[in-house]
Amino acid sequence: MSINRQWLLAKRPQGMLSLDDFVYNETAIPIADLAAGDLLLRNLWFSFDPAQRGWMDDRASYLPPVALGEPMRATAVAQVVASANEQFPEGSLVQGLFDWQDYTRVSADNPMQPHPIPTGTPPNYPLSIFGATSLTAYFGILDVGKIKAGDTVVVSGAAGAVGSVAAQIARIKGCRVIGIAGGIEKCEWLINECKLDAAINYKAENIDQQLTLLCPDGVDVFFDNVGGNTLEVLLEHMSDHGRIVSCGQISQYNAEQPNAGPSNLNRITERRLRLEGFILMDFIERIEEAMNDIAPWVMGGELAFREDVQEGFENIPATLLRLFSGQNAGKQLLKISDPTEV
Ligand code: NAP
Repeated sequence: MSINRQWLLAKRPQGMLSLDDFVYNETAIPIADLAAGDLLLRNLWFSFDPAQRGWMDDRASYLPPVALGEPMRATAVAQVVASANEQFPEGSLVQGLFDWQDYTRVSADNPMQPHPIPTGTPPNYPLSIFGATSLTAYFGILDVGKIKAGDTVVVSGAAGAVGSVAAQIARIKGCRVIGIAGGIEKCEWLINECKLDAAINYKAENIDQQLTLLCPDGVDVFFDNVGGNTLEVLLEHMSDHGRIVSCGQISQYNAEQPNAGPSNLNRITERRLRLEGFILMDFIERIEEAMNDIAPWVMGGELAFREDVQEGFENIPATLLRLFSGQNAGKQLLKISDPTEV
């Protein structure tokens, strides 16, 4: 390939993300004159994450917004195609925060250096079951949720990448676990493959009524990926000294008007609840510890996971939209190509 294909951020989205928010572009491959320490990477796999929606708004967060007219930012796995850095030989695979384009040039002084991927690792795994979503689930449910055996745990967004892992870790640790997800197929997967105790299809069932039936003694830990009305309903079902892990609020990311917020925050006081947010970056020093637990659970078949793999550079923007319509069944990925032999 002689060109560098890109998807640029064309405008700040108003409300629900749309394909018009992005524009296709082509540039030259940035190969000339690699300085000492520089790398040229070719992206192979992209991860799709709800956080990308936040990066499109003109609002400071834990990362700066993507600038208008610049390629959209994404986590990706890439292959080193030219290297002036002996730590990253040509042909090796790396992972990092790159852009929606074929090629990325990383200079030696870039503070966001890529991470090498061990030889033999399937290139999709560092973006899915051995990636950031599983780590988020791990630290969120264990360190923030502080689950203990016998707890009743409810997880929203339970069939997604973070939610399914958080729910299963709670199950592995001896909790009774109820997942909330959109659709019969997702709920069946949660029960049959993830071995949860129950699942609520929020698109067809009333969460409040179902929790009254399923959790008569209250919910000890709520791992929340959704926010909005779901959080408001759960506040009514928490038991005394319950913990709410605020992992994300995907129901609000495309809202034109922010939700007025739970009208029942008084429950936090009355039931002596703890509601705590966290960001995976807070736990960056402990990734090895988490992987030492997660890997044997996956290899031993205790932790089920699934990937939703789309293909083709042209389908990148549409694939991001899948997250916000619930079309994704599992961790949303897109494959550009296999690594090339060197
Ligand atoms: P995911 O759950 O695999 O995919 C997103 C899912 O969200 C969709 O499949 C859909 O599932 C659900 N959803 C979309 N719009 C919704 C709405 N309006 N109301 C209710 N549910 C909706 O994505 P993920 O990567 O695992 O992320 C899950 C959550 O974790 C997000 O809130 C994300 O921001 C958060 N997160 C936080 C951190 C952190 O460090 N704190 C890190 C990573 C992710 P249904 O079909 O079930 O509706």
